[in-house]
Amino acid sequence: PEAITVQELAKRMGEKGADLVKSLFKMGSMVTVNQTIDQDTAELLVEEFGHNIQRVSEADVEINTQADVDPEETLKPRAPVVTIMGHVDHGKTSLLDALRGTDVVAGEAGGITQHIGAYQVTMKNGDKVTFLDTPGHEAFTEMRMRGANVTDIVILVVAADDGLMPQTIEAINHTKAAGVPMIVAINKIDKEGADPTTVRTRLLEHEVIVEEMSGDVLDAEVSALKKIGLDELMEKIHVQAELLELKARPDRAAEGSVVEAKLDKGRGPVATVLIERGTLKRGDVFVVGSQTGKVRALIDDKGKQVKEAGPSTPVEVLGISGVPSAGDKLTVVENEGRAREVAAYRAEQNKLKRTTQVPTSLENMFSAAA
Ligand code: GDP
Ligand code: MG
Repeated sequence: PEAITVQELAKRMGEKGADLVKSLFKMGSMVTVNQTIDQDTAELLVEEFGHNIQRVSEADVEINTQADVDPEETLKPRAPVVTIMGHVDHGKTSLLDALRGTDVVAGEAGGITQHIGAYQVTMKNGDKVTFLDTPGHEAFTEMRMRGANVTDIVILVVAADDGLMPQTIEAINHTKAAGVPMIVAINKIDKEGADPTTVRTRLLEHEVIVEEMSGDVLDAEVSALKKIGLDELMEKIHVQAELLELKARPDRAAEGSVVEAKLDKGRGPVATVLIERGTLKRGDVFVVGSQTGKVRALIDDKGKQVKEAGPSTPVEVLGISGVPSAGDKLTVVENEGRAREVAAYRAEQNKLKRTTQVPTSLENMFSAAA
């Protein structure tokens, strides 16, 4: 459970710790300033004192130059970011490959594909979908734990012949915990013994109610191997994305999350970054995790050099001082001095996180502003 000390909350609110303790007493809890309270109580207190709860991004806390929330009128539609989850051998990798094959742009380019940890598919109607190339809930959960909530839609792959298995159920739980909508891909329908109806029925036990069962979870019957139902699945992704009204501001300093990073023999440290808002350009100075850098080159998922990358685009970034970790945040800053300052701050924060067991997530998530 997330918690914060009364003292720390008071500091954030610019109030006296003793006043908070008094208020808490009136609310029925006896605590001292050094004790922790849970998130709900903290929120109540903040409201009680007439402050607003403001969710802040890491960049805001550290850099303080850009407002966290981009004004509505600056937002433009962006492609959904999709993660594929499901039990081992149910066809996650096969489906990723098959969906990649539906890309009309890759077809034109001669089908050269780069595995950079994420890729984007352009549909016949011109809409784009971004897939994270690391299937499984470990990667999903790891990214989330590091504060990178980049997935908009989860595709739950269930093999129609095998049905619900332990990792299917784990994936359902992780998806629910993240509050991310799910689309069920009932795979291997080409196989003898495929039983999609039983899959749909068994999903009910886990409160995943597909349309046919009069619920609102979208589903599609597919065969990744025989390439059946792929357009239908892409269409469902499109429908779900429309419902979500995904938007981001493209014309600002870029922010994104590292999906994958490595040390390349010839090219040095390379990170695949999923841009979340803003546009990353060649020459931009940035911080990524506790590393700094200046964009030397940007390479897209087709292996092509590009000048810039906007929201929901995965791109390989060259020009980093060292190798960052998956889930690290990339933030463009004004200049190299600022980059070093923020990187040093982040390194310090990491050290603190490693040496203390006190939960800090709530403190990171909230600031109390008058
Ligand atoms: P993952 O572990 O979830 O990534 O599963 P894979 O994509 O590696 O697939 C596991 C096995 O199932 C492989 O032998 C695939 O060829 C096979 N497979 C995947 N999709 C289908 C399908 O639609 N039909 C059939 N018959 N086999 C499939
Ligand atoms: Mg696999």
